[in-house]
Amino acid sequence: MKKSLFLIGLAALGLAGCSTSGRSEVDRKVDELLGKMTIEEKIGQLNHISPFTPEMGREAVASASTGALLNVFDPAEANELQRIAVEETRLGIPLLFARDVIHGFHTLFPIPLGQAATFDPEVVELGARVAAVEASAAGIRWTYSPMIDVARDSRWGRVAEGAGEDPYLASVMGAAMVRGYQGDDLSQPNTMAACIKHFAGYGAAEGGRDYNTTKIPVRELRNSYLPPFKAAVEAGAATLMTSFNEIDGVPSSGNEWLLRDVLREEWGFKGVVVTDWNSSGEMVAHGFAADLRDATCKAVNAGVDLDMMSMGFSRHLKELVESGEVSEKRLDEAVRHILTLKYRLGLFDNPYVDLERQKEVDYCDEHLAAAKRCAVESAVLLKNEDATLPLKGVRRLLVTGPMADAAHDQNGTWSFDGQPEHTVTPLAALREVEGLQVDYLPGLLYSRDNSTDRLPAVTAAARQADAVAVFIGEEAILSGEAHSLADLKLQGAQSRLIAAARASGRPVVVVVMAGRPLTIAEELKECDAMLYCFHPGTMGGAAIADLLLGKAVPSGKTPVTFPKVTGQLPLYYNHNNTGRPVVGNEVLLENIPLQAGQTSLGCTSFYLDAGWEPLFPFGYGLSYTTFAYSDVKADKEVYGTGDTLAVEFTLANTGEYDAVEVAQLYVQDVTGSIARPVKELKRFARVALKAGESRTVRFELPIAELAFYGLDNSCKVEPGQFRFWVAGDSASGEPRTFEVK
Ligand code: BGC
Repeated sequence: MKKSLFLIGLAALGLAGCSTSGRSEVDRKVDELLGKMTIEEKIGQLNHISPFTPEMGREAVASASTGALLNVFDPAEANELQRIAVEETRLGIPLLFARDVIHGFHTLFPIPLGQAATFDPEVVELGARVAAVEASAAGIRWTYSPMIDVARDSRWGRVAEGAGEDPYLASVMGAAMVRGYQGDDLSQPNTMAACIKHFAGYGAAEGGRDYNTTKIPVRELRNSYLPPFKAAVEAGAATLMTSFNEIDGVPSSGNEWLLRDVLREEWGFKGVVVTDWNSSGEMVAHGFAADLRDATCKAVNAGVDLDMMSMGFSRHLKELVESGEVSEKRLDEAVRHILTLKYRLGLFDNPYVDLERQKEVDYCDEHLAAAKRCAVESAVLLKNEDATLPLKGVRRLLVTGPMADAAHDQNGTWSFDGQPEHTVTPLAALREVEGLQVDYLPGLLYSRDNSTDRLPAVTAAARQADAVAVFIGEEAILSGEAHSLADLKLQGAQSRLIAAARASGRPVVVVVMAGRPLTIAEELKECDAMLYCFHPGTMGGAAIADLLLGKAVPSGKTPVTFPKVTGQLPLYYNHNNTGRPVVGNEVLLENIPLQAGQTSLGCTSFYLDAGWEPLFPFGYGLSYTTFAYSDVKADKEVYGTGDTLAVEFTLANTGEYDAVEVAQLYVQDVTGSIARPVKELKRFARVALKAGESRTVRFELPIAELAFYGLDNSCKVEPGQFRFWVAGDSASGEPRTFEVK
């Protein structure tokens, strides 16, 4: 077996080693180098370009007009460019190669939304480690990941790339990815610098339309959108990317308050700030800068270090420094950040990639096993009537649907480097199962296929089988950057395909593979069981086969709220209450009497047609077994702000399968100086229990973690009454109370 994962050294030897003066060895080296650099060489280090041709790359490197390249992923080419930089430029400063390695490089893990559905930071960290090992073998030492934008509107195609709607889940997953990419010692050649993005508030794009403007009050920004970034900074993220959007009129790449006051001063971030692709140049289109020169000036002065692809730095920065509009001190500070990163990555000592390494690590067994584990854990069981799953006594299975054998689409968004020929589709995996006869009719050729011509044949074939597995969802291209949708219904004739399977009278299992929650209320009624997989990557098919056949038991939970209809969006569990919360006796469309009086339907916050509930709440997912929560209690009734709340409960596996339950702790601050969310996830744990086993589980939560930005804009715990819930999802459990004095 090829091995790879932990080629990194055991101990972090200290990134630099501190000298007695308090300045590190790296600081000293950076200062020395900086002292030798011309203004052109400094600006070159800040220019982050994607060479559209090999010649363009070589020329930019030879003229020292770039110090970091994106989208060079051939290790031989990387070494050649590196050789030019190291041997042929005056100062020999090594290059840094970057790429969007978002959920794996060659071996693809589930898309980040699927990884979040595992509620398992350990497997997510492992995924990032695998990605770092494989990508670094191609010379890539910097990834633009993790994306930790909180997203509460799944029309936004980029919901696929993050951890969903919850700030705490995104914080935990973001920190796990940072650890996985960077390891304990960034100077090891198989690590990558992480880049937390997109700072900030990008996930709040109005209407879920990508790149759109956001309306986020500062307190809301701090309470809901910034916590994952703060957590990732604390986890040691080496770099950060500014976002495309503006907040309250200020585009992030020119937002001094965000980049200086919050990021550097409050959080003490010491790493590199890079723009998103041309996001500084786009400040002209925003109407925030007059032209590229003005945009460059605003970006650099706001705290941007590296420019990705606006070309504003190469065209205007020298002149801006010479005119005094950008200070030399600011220029030096930016250069210092990137040089420090290059030293930390060990690039000065070890600039080249070992060309033998890629053969060793790509798609090695260890990586495939990790990707499969993650795909298994990320699948969410939404329905399982009459214990249809796992399939029992099924000898002949009809496999149908456009996602049954769609390697490219199963890999999901941002899968530039994952080769579909390595991807195991459900069809391929099921065909390997001994004793199972698999018949296959695609029914539809791709998710948007509207042709119903092949559907009668599906019904006929289903009648010959013991059960039908219908694989539907979204092609990869329908989610991700710039791929927002106004309507989350199933595309093409996929609903009719399910109906065609249903018409056979055989048990129908639907497996969805998508980049976001789709509105599947009607389709749910038409099947016996439904397994929801966010595009699950290279080993998705193998994972799904194990789940369908009971070799593995589902344990994933929804990382976003599933709406019944798109018009409910934005929809998220941790909303504030209105002054008129739903009471439960509201009258819905079908029950409105004729000529009803104006106020007879219930004057609360709901929709006449969609009601108030989601299709599935955040944190939801079934298992093949059942779990019971009991004896939930806190260790005290009253806590001080310095105390730790300890909650204990008994969790019992009351069914017939050994399984894992994701137990969740939610807290509500009942009254605050500002209105507070109805619930907030504060802790979760994957608890493995054998059939029939029960165990006491304990969550500990420092009361300090109940702090929030209140009326006076400071972050503190506000004493008063609190409620808490322990449950298997965000809509269950009985509230209990405690007080903070
Ligand atoms: C995206 C970023 C990405 C960058 C580089 C941009 O369009 O918004 O998330 O990292 O491109 O590819």
